[in-house]
Amino acid sequence: MPLETKNPETLALHAGWRADPTTGAVAPPIYQTTSYQFHDTEHAANLFALKELGNIYTRIGNPTTGILEERLAALEGGVAALALSSGQAASAFALQNVARVGDNVVSSTDLYGGTWNLFANTLKDQGIEVRFVDPSDPENFRRATDERTRAYYAETLPNPKLVVFPIAEVAAIGREYGIPLIVDNTAAPILTKPLQHGAAIVVYSTTKYIGGHGTSIGGAIIDGGNFDWEKFADRQPALNTPDPSYHGAVWVEAVKPLGPVAYIIKARTTLLRDLGSALSPFNAFLTLQGIETLPLRIERHVSNAQTVADFLGKRAEITKVIHPSRQTGAARERADKYLKGKYGALVGFELAGGLEAGRKFIDALKLFYHVANIGDARSLAIHPATTTHSQLSPEAQLSTGVTPGYVRLAIGIEHIDDILADLDQALRAAGA
Ligand code: PLP
Repeated sequence: MPLETKNPETLALHAGWRADPTTGAVAPPIYQTTSYQFHDTEHAANLFALKELGNIYTRIGNPTTGILEERLAALEGGVAALALSSGQAASAFALQNVARVGDNVVSSTDLYGGTWNLFANTLKDQGIEVRFVDPSDPENFRRATDERTRAYYAETLPNPKLVVFPIAEVAAIGREYGIPLIVDNTAAPILTKPLQHGAAIVVYSTTKYIGGHGTSIGGAIIDGGNFDWEKFADRQPALNTPDPSYHGAVWVEAVKPLGPVAYIIKARTTLLRDLGSALSPFNAFLTLQGIETLPLRIERHVSNAQTVADFLGKRAEITKVIHPSRQTGAARERADKYLKGKYGALVGFELAGGLEAGRKFIDALKLFYHVANIGDARSLAIHPATTTHSQLSPEAQLSTGVTPGYVRLAIGIEHIDDILADLDQALRAAGA
């Protein structure tokens, strides 16, 4: 059912699904099936030739997953989405869909560690070079661009630095050259819509806030439908030259009758078909359950995190609080431009007592979970120097923004008094 509204609270509940036409069931059913009976041979042939869209095999598409895809596209203001088995699969596919051997991508240095590894090592081994640039100057993207640059990549609100990326500025540079900006918006769903600021593609780890309950690994790519791939045919050969893997289809032409969806259809019909990173229908269902309350949860995550940042800022044991509300200058201007005072739910801080204090603080927590995750409804904490960043040299840790006493909090939706009480007792126990 097409919904007129653009309000996320309503879309989160209604986009992509209303009720089952046969049973009247209101909750989306879990279509736990691998394959789908064709009406007849003509129907089967049409589906394979993309003359008609429909279900063939769950590796390539599933009705439960389809509801999730429609809902994500609606919430993001895009034209279509592709759900995948993890956020990692989403970022890999997002680039592999346009970059081939010998091509390059320019990416912000401020990335989730797993994405960094994928870009610096695995994609490199596959012949795709990722050039990392400091995002504080958008012109760095232009400087690293050459004729084989196929995409720009960044995260909206990367941790641990929590400095918001200049989406509109970099997207505009890319559009001069026919280069799409792909934005990982995992840490800021609802809070900002990168497509509205000129990004062409949005990537999510739905494992985090979107699923929201720490139950399901998943990812998604959302196509903004706002990028003219055809106009930049030389720059974007993957979408503009015959694809031998799909009987010579030129994607921008082959899917024209379906709308501006060449990018996302290609990702589904080639990469997902061949690499198989399909989301299970059950995980799609759980993610849909999460989305129903996403706008509501985000409000609470954000207000709790703001209160925590203010609380930590008053503690003598803490030398620095990392949260957009504590930033000044250009970083703060960006945070305000893109997040409009709702600065997300991640808060970092540095303990005066360094590494030992960080360790003690984590061990003393009673309510917060000590896990390598963000975006759960529960409050989470981690000490990067002894965990996620422990393989890096102290110098490399510092360059990513991790000092020995740095602690990252992903603030949940518990009662704020209980969150503050746990932080208070753990700070005391750390003797910091
Ligand atoms: N992007 C960001 C910003 C993340 O934080 C993560 C995971 O922590 C990922 C992508 C990868 O997602 P997944 O763990 O679902 O593969």
